[in-house]
Amino acid sequence: MEIRNCKVCGNSNGNKLYAVKEMQLGMRETFTYMECGNCGCMQLMDIPADLGKYYPNEGYYSFNRGLTLQKPGLLRRIKTSYLLQGKNALVGGLLSVGYKVPDYYSWMKIPGIKYDDAILDIGTGNGSLLSTLFSLGFTNLTGIDPFIDKDMQVGSINIYKKSIFETEGQYDYLMLHHAFEHMDEPLKVLQQLYKLVKKGKYVLIRTPVMGMYSWKKYGTNWMDLDAPRHIIIHSLKSMQLLAAQAGYELRKTVFDGNYMSLIGSDQYAKDIALPDPNSYMVNKPASGYNKEDVEKFKSITIQNNKEQQADQAAFYLFKP
Ligand SMILES: [Zn+2]
Repeated sequence: MEIRNCKVCGNSNGNKLYAVKEMQLGMRETFTYMECGNCGCMQLMDIPADLGKYYPNEGYYSFNRGLTLQKPGLLRRIKTSYLLQGKNALVGGLLSVGYKVPDYYSWMKIPGIKYDDAILDIGTGNGSLLSTLFSLGFTNLTGIDPFIDKDMQVGSINIYKKSIFETEGQYDYLMLHHAFEHMDEPLKVLQQLYKLVKKGKYVLIRTPVMGMYSWKKYGTNWMDLDAPRHIIIHSLKSMQLLAAQAGYELRKTVFDGNYMSLIGSDQYAKDIALPDPNSYMVNKPASGYNKEDVEKFKSITIQNNKEQQADQAAFYLFKP
């Protein structure tokens, strides 16, 4: 395959090709990716015409969780307020004792999201995150995803089968949880998101980060390359470039890698696909990873997140 110019920065110097196997479904088909010699992002060379076949509705993680709605109780809302804004400190403090603060609190807290802010979750799957946010007291919740079967309405949550380019209006907050890497033409995407977010508000992009610990250690076996579903795996530099080009200020980057991706990558290096019978995700005892192994992956992950070397991050893009 011919080396091309980078889709993100246009560079043609030092671009390298790699063969990456499909391992999340265990098909083991090979796809060619190119690493840019300038901005360091990784891109799929040829997007398969039948990409839908790599997103089977059964088994793909975004789609197989059930959507249930839990009404926000008063205590729950007090606890949420405490974690978000430090309100009702005494009661909230008691409720939060021994309670590990889940990531979604920081996704709401860092950009200062209020309960009635209009929130759009892009690549929402069946909306399980939106239902969690509803149960915490958020009221204005919309999701979109072009890959779901049909529109869904659950309580006050509206979920539409459509892309960002078919979406109109303006929101207080846009969230893309592991969706951006599935999209081609990232500058066009960021420009469209810019239209959809109000001035003075944020777009959250959570995505794998190329060139960090996992890439250095596992190379093409790094689980988050996720061929061929991940079309572009961005580097810190390609994210900075694109954000600036689209008119955003990249205000904050929080590394949020998790240890499962290290285990997955370690397995891929041993030719164990995610759904294989001896995969840790399928059968822990059969996988051969003992408690100590898992603890080690966890401590490496904590270290990587702290040192900003983890393979995933949350980018907070501000529209000035
Ligand atoms: Zn580039």
